[in-house]
Amino acid sequence: MTSGPTRRPSTDGDQAAADATSAPDGNVSWRTLAACRGLNPSLFYDPHPVAIDTAKQVCARCPVRATCKTQALAAGEEYGVWGGLSADERPAPKPSSPQRPGPPPALSDDELYDLFDAAEPDRAALDQLLEHTYLPTATAYKHLARAERLGVVEHRGRSLFPARR
Ligand code: SF4
Repeated sequence: MTSGPTRRPSTDGDQAAADATSAPDGNVSWRTLAACRGLNPSLFYDPHPVAIDTAKQVCARCPVRATCKTQALAAGEEYGVWGGLSADERPAPKPSSPQRPGPPPALSDDELYDLFDAAEPDRAALDQLLEHTYLPTATAYKHLARAERLGVVEHRGRSLFPARR
């Protein structure tokens, strides 16, 4: 995650400018005031209780602690001390929302040629197509119908197999 202040050891103006331009939200002034700025970042990621207490002491005198905490919570920072809170003291990040299925991947004629050219001739074409790429079954059958028209699969019995050429 990149929402917190940079903890790279630097205090020069160029670095401040670099931090300013790299911030995702464009609101970077608070980062330049961070008490951890210029300190060794590993202090804030060391899970040893003594290191955590030391990092928290830095946060305790930090003028932007509230903003840092808010940003860390919003970003779901999983590791390190942010805003005076250790990872254990922050709520667990929400699991990412399940991916919407979206449109099924399109397979070009060339891709169908290549797929069935390299396929095992005696294994069902449907199995090999679904191994190659996830497709809803109805879409897979549409691809197989096109593959049949292209002559790269053929009926043997009741199933489609890669065409023997
Ligand atoms: S609150 Fe702590 S982690 Fe956040 S900017 Fe300040 S010193 Fe750094």
